[in-house]
Amino acid sequence: MIGSVRVGVRTRQWAGLCLGVFTCITAHTASAADCPGHPDAIGTSRTLVVDPREHPRIGTMQYPETLPLEDHEVVLTFDDGPLPHNSNQILDILASECVKATFFEIGRMAQVYPEGVRKLRDAGHSIGTHTQNHPLSMDRMPIDRARQEIDDGIASVKAALGHDTALALFYRNPGLLRAGDVEDYLASQGIQTWSADFLADDWRHVSPSRVYDLAIKRLEEKGRGILLLHDIQARTVAALPRILHELKARGYRIVHVVPATSGQPATPTEPQQWQLHPPSETVAISHWPKIPNFVFTGADTLPAPALSDFDWRDGQLMTLAEPLDRARRLARGVPLPRETPWPRQSPLPLDNAASALPVPAESIFEIQEKRHAATRPVAPSSHHAEQTVPSKRETDGVARLISADARDSRRMIPGSLPITEPGLRRVLRHLI
Ligand SMILES: [Zn+2]
Repeated sequence: MIGSVRVGVRTRQWAGLCLGVFTCITAHTASAADCPGHPDAIGTSRTLVVDPREHPRIGTMQYPETLPLEDHEVVLTFDDGPLPHNSNQILDILASECVKATFFEIGRMAQVYPEGVRKLRDAGHSIGTHTQNHPLSMDRMPIDRARQEIDDGIASVKAALGHDTALALFYRNPGLLRAGDVEDYLASQGIQTWSADFLADDWRHVSPSRVYDLAIKRLEEKGRGILLLHDIQARTVAALPRILHELKARGYRIVHVVPATSGQPATPTEPQQWQLHPPSETVAISHWPKIPNFVFTGADTLPAPALSDFDWRDGQLMTLAEPLDRARRLARGVPLPRETPWPRQSPLPLDNAASALPVPAESIFEIQEKRHAATRPVAPSSHHAEQTVPSKRETDGVARLISADARDSRRMIPGSLPITEPGLRRVLRHLI
């Protein structure tokens, strides 16, 4: 594992030896030495330790918070595996670049290919889960069934690993389809729900070149974040080397995320670091918070505006009905437009102004992430038109779909229908 701890030790060692110019230059090449045989590898710049209980939902595509990354830091995630042929190639690419990632494994896939899960562990990647059967209905299925999907998925991946310690309590909804009661359940179990900060559409029928283009373009728009990919997709295998090469060329750094343990506490962070764009005096707030912190006190009306609200220069009162020439006089030589576009003459004398403003309707504060609007994955707005909603035919998960390939089956899922790897590939290519 190439992490901050290791890098830190190395830095201290070099600091003690940095006695001359030549030695100091050598210290800058330490990161290349971390990836033996691959001097051009992008590597993994640091390890970020997170406590899932402190930040139960992350990923700005759906949640207010995301990982506390610095500018130009990227976290790679891969969903839907393991599927040996393609997943193994993804692992080889990551190994050649000394990159650590997070994988969200499907329980049923882990049952069929447990060795694929163990390869992730042995390579030092983080392993989360992605339900048992990848149902594209987590946003609307009964909570008992949803819990079963989550629990079974975790149990299957744990069984593949043989012990619990390698499994991170990281979880991602199939299709990013979310529901409040599901999220509540996950949080109650100390499980962190991961959305993403941007996609590369690698589950769709696009070329590897398109996957590369989208990954880089969308990352550049955000500057940092969690990239969602799929290790089961051949187009992802084809695109990943170029993506990693370009990330390095553009100065991006890979961060590996691991869960906190009793022996490895969470990396210290500040709350604002968990926001992609923390509010500041120079950046306008473009979104209402997901859960507005308004307190409706029961007052039926808001207070009437004070006369001082209409003060303008020197405390002199100028109503909207004031003639324009008086406004010009008050401007003291500053040229004003000959006509004001609005309003020219207010028919409302100040004395007759409403003594109270109406209470704003609650609908004003509604946000789009309420139930019906939040049940579909959210893409960056500039690419929203490219999003497709899975059809019902695609929404019944792995177990039912793989039955279509039972004829040429060679492998069996215990207690289920026969399965083949090509069959799974055909099934899963439609799934995010
Ligand atoms: Zn998926």
